[in-house]
Amino acid sequence: MRFTFVTLFSALIEGYFKDSILKRAIEKDIIKIDYLNPRDYSKNKHSKVDDTAVGGGAGMVMNPQPLFDALDDLKSKDENVHIVFLTPVAKPFVQNDAKRLAKKTHIAFVSGRYEGIDERVIEKYADEVFSIGDYILTGGELASLVLCDAISRNKEGVLGNAQSLEIESFETQLLEAPSFSKPQNYEGLSVPSEYLKGNHSKIRSLKLALSEAKTKFFRPEQLLKHKVQSH
Ligand code: SAM
Repeated sequence: MRFTFVTLFSALIEGYFKDSILKRAIEKDIIKIDYLNPRDYSKNKHSKVDDTAVGGGAGMVMNPQPLFDALDDLKSKDENVHIVFLTPVAKPFVQNDAKRLAKKTHIAFVSGRYEGIDERVIEKYADEVFSIGDYILTGGELASLVLCDAISRNKEGVLGNAQSLEIESFETQLLEAPSFSKPQNYEGLSVPSEYLKGNHSKIRSLKLALSEAKTKFFRPEQLLKHKVQSH
């Protein structure tokens, strides 16, 4: 699967792939990463990519021309590319989106900067638009990395143990039960004794009860959905 980051600041993204699981996924050819800089397409003699907002308003807005040309170029080379814009003005990205998008062959993430992107670019090129939460970042690079990471984990072979995916939070409406590592006692703090006794059916019941308690505390709306679905 290929990911193209359409960004003015690829260096912000590159470092993320130099270590850990996604580095291995690149080495194994499961994912491929490349970058497209709209500035390389600017027809302005100073390679400008932004201008003041028409109709007033603070800050600069990314111009249509460099992005139109960059995205036309991308589409001319791969008509199947799925173009995703990152913006706070969109529906929130969730786990089901990550699983669905993992089936695409090529996704391009378009990151805004300054006060955002001229809306005509989004209207013309967006296959989908996502926000990663109700707060404002300085640019879309972090948001596009969030999506790339969450999508990549759902590609076969990326995680060492595919079972990790099945038991995670959001696979059902419930959050995952607490996890513990060794030693069993650390500085007077013990893991729940049921976890130690080896009775897997009791451990499952306890984990379910703990999952429900965590979900009720942190995400009560998810617990309601879970209860509706299980009836
Ligand atoms: N003026 C915009 C507004 O109020 O909606 C915010 C622009 S923000 C400073 C610059 C860029 O950061 C956006 O174009 C977008 O690409 C990215 N961005 C900021 N917050 C985001 C979020 N919550 N989710 C996804 N992208 C975000």
